[in-house]
Amino acid sequence: MPVQFDNSFARLPPQFFSPQLPTKVAAPKLVKYNKELAMELGVVDDDLTPNMLVGNDIPVDATPIATAYSGHQFGGFSPHLGDGRAILLGEIITPKEDRFDLQLKGSGKTMFSRNGDGRANIGAVIREYVVSEAMHALNIPTTRALAAVTTGDMVQRETATPGAVLARVASSHIRVGTFQFHYARRDKDSLQTLTDYVINRHYPDADGPIEMLAQVIENQAKLVAKWMGVGFIHGVMNTDNMSISGETIDYGPCAFMDTYHPETVFSSIDRNGRYAYANQPKIALWNLSQLAQTLVPLVGEAGISGIEQALGSFDTLFANEFSKVFGCKLGLMGAALGDAALVEDILMILAESNVDFTLFFSHLTSHAITEDASNARALFDDPRGFEDWLTCLETRSATAPKAERVKMMQAANPVYIPRNHRVEQVIEAANIGDYAPFETLQRVLSKPFERRAEFDAYELPPRPEEVVRATFCGT
Ligand code: AMP
Ligand code: MG
Repeated sequence: MPVQFDNSFARLPPQFFSPQLPTKVAAPKLVKYNKELAMELGVVDDDLTPNMLVGNDIPVDATPIATAYSGHQFGGFSPHLGDGRAILLGEIITPKEDRFDLQLKGSGKTMFSRNGDGRANIGAVIREYVVSEAMHALNIPTTRALAAVTTGDMVQRETATPGAVLARVASSHIRVGTFQFHYARRDKDSLQTLTDYVINRHYPDADGPIEMLAQVIENQAKLVAKWMGVGFIHGVMNTDNMSISGETIDYGPCAFMDTYHPETVFSSIDRNGRYAYANQPKIALWNLSQLAQTLVPLVGEAGISGIEQALGSFDTLFANEFSKVFGCKLGLMGAALGDAALVEDILMILAESNVDFTLFFSHLTSHAITEDASNARALFDDPRGFEDWLTCLETRSATAPKAERVKMMQAANPVYIPRNHRVEQVIEAANIGDYAPFETLQRVLSKPFERRAEFDAYELPPRPEEVVRATFCGT
């Protein structure tokens, strides 16, 4: 039975999108199909063929479009962005009645392509596949990867690499930049239409634009706190890459930190560290202020104080979420005076000591289980600061029920993350048609909280010669 698509976005007025068929490709070959996700979507075997997942065949009732959006890129406003290398096939309604976009990324030029070729290379597709699925397994809201298909064509970037298409699933692809597009055109009717659409689709209990904004703000505060809890750096938090639904979207030069430092940046295009690890909450608020600005025409003078109040809540919301996330990482049950200092202190000690972020917290979990701190201690050249801190943590946790505390820490401290050097290895192999490392990494990252002896090596930070210093959009 073919997939039933609904196309509510394509039923919006014409200024929201442009009808666009994907460009046909020479020789599609399925690299990976995410059966587990397909099942959640209610898509059964053969419903979506590789030819459909690459854009060669269009499912019967799909209405392929490229959507319009603007965006602040590194602080500068670009009014005309839009889906330049992606096509929205339509929306799938799941057996649970949830609605998800199915988008093909890398499926050819659109009216928004500007000078781009509308293509993606296998490296970019694999990176997004691995990292978005890892984020999902880490319980972080994200777009998902349904399939990766190579096209049989080569894509020219720094070098020529195999072209590919990622079939991506999202709660929606509406971005802060989607609002900015209509705001920049001074099109109040479209802003109203978009707001009504977003409320209906994502925030049904919001009564008007201000309540919608407040909920978007809350979701972003939660999201960025979760990113920081796993050492994730998005890398290109432009307003066009911030989803209204609160999912992580557009995995370009993103990366997970190995050694902890708040100023860590990987993206080769982020020269001033605008999107550095610790800047992410500030940037989220900056982006949300841009969203707020677009709502002013709808709420008028009378609504401005409501908008300001919503924006003003971000810092407290974020601080609370951050404490919650890091409280779980330390196994702080309940709340006590001094908890914030415990978190701040350990982060400072980690930064001073060049310690691996993920390894430290997973060793801290082991310490909660075995009461043996030797693995954690061994991460420090000079462990004295850590030892003093650990004494404070032990005092704080002395009366906590151990089993519960361990469970809390195990659920917050992954053993495996998509370390950059692993992702690079997988991409290098995929460039020459070897997907075995990709499959293995997938298996490792599908259960990030469960230590498995056969995957010991995946726990480890890169050796000095394996360290990846910069990531590229590779678009
Ligand atoms: P990004 O910030 O990388 O998600 O993309 C910013 C804008 O550039 C979006 O409008 C993309 O659709 C567009 N873009 C990026 N890469 C390409 C490409 N290869 N071809 C056409 N448009 C692209
Ligand atoms: Mg983008």
